Amino acid sequence: DLTINKIAAGEVVERPSSVVKELIENSIDANSSKVTIEIVDGGKKLIRITDDGIGILSSEVDKSFLRHATSKIKRLEDLDNLYSLGFRGEALASISSVSKLEMITKTKDEPIGTKVVLEGGKVILKEPIGCVNGTTLIISDIFFNTPARQKFLKSTHAETINISDLINKLAIGNPKIQFKYINNNKPMLNTPGDGKLINVIRSVYGKDVTENLVEIDFKNNHFELSGYIGTNNVYRANKNLQHIYINNRFVKSKVILDAISESYKSIIPINKHAVCFLNLKVNPSTIDVNIHPNKMEIKFESEKEIYVELKDYLKGKLLQSNLV
Ligand code: ADP
Ligand code: MG
Repeated sequence: DLTINKIAAGEVVERPSSVVKELIENSIDANSSKVTIEIVDGGKKLIRITDDGIGILSSEVDKSFLRHATSKIKRLEDLDNLYSLGFRGEALASISSVSKLEMITKTKDEPIGTKVVLEGGKVILKEPIGCVNGTTLIISDIFFNTPARQKFLKSTHAETINISDLINKLAIGNPKIQFKYINNNKPMLNTPGDGKLINVIRSVYGKDVTENLVEIDFKNNHFELSGYIGTNNVYRANKNLQHIYINNRFVKSKVILDAISESYKSIIPINKHAVCFLNLKVNPSTIDVNIHPNKMEIKFESEKEIYVELKDYLKGKLLQSNLV
């Protein structure tokens, strides 16, 4: 079973940023209002994620490291109704199989927490510990037992950029959560967690970007659209400033990006990547998030309609905003 986990880890745990992604998503799923991320050496040496979420019962801790152990699907129909980010029950099993992992966790219903240490997927220590409610995960020496993969890790600089980018995206997708990010002891990001998207964008990208945005708030039969799109910013935008979320999950969606660029192109004859921070709320049963293990790609049931409706709406909004 440990071997299977190690193989599966090849899909889930490509690099330190994939670990950070899975762990932050677990913290989000655990209803946290504050998530702190600390990394050392681009996450290659250490990743520490602390949240104030629901925690894990002492009796459930071991189970959380088993493959396909997820508390997030109770019945099969739940799959159609899933708003939570994780649902495969693979992350902790995979991550723990290729690293040294320490977890400290406590629920509000238990007077004392649990500390558990795993190495290469094997539990080497489990003991009660006094701690606050919530969960801390410490991942060190990623790929220590898979030297071939350790060799393929990118430079500290490249891994750090990847992680920073990921944290920015997760923070923007979750304005109600306060994200604190520390890289080699240096504070990098601290979002207010006040629920206001514009304040997160300001924390991440600064005033320059927020001063040139038009607010979006729209609803039809297929989706609810909210967020911001760039106005004159469009001329100097790059792909990194394009943020598309579906049910608050950051995704790569060609359909949506195409609809956005078409709406701009119909007004300004210039082919650039518009700044956008958009969340599309759709009925989970009308999308398929299962096409890639890292869950970044999404398939819509009514792709054509969404494309057309989105394009037409944005075009109208841009004309009306008079700013482009
Ligand atoms: P999944 O997220 O797909 O359910 P994971 O392997 O990521 O699978 O996590 C396994 C289980 O461990 C989760 O279903 C959840 O019950 C528990 N868990 C993991 N991280 C946390 C956390 N930060 N807070 C509370 N529970 C957690
Ligand atoms: Mg998960």
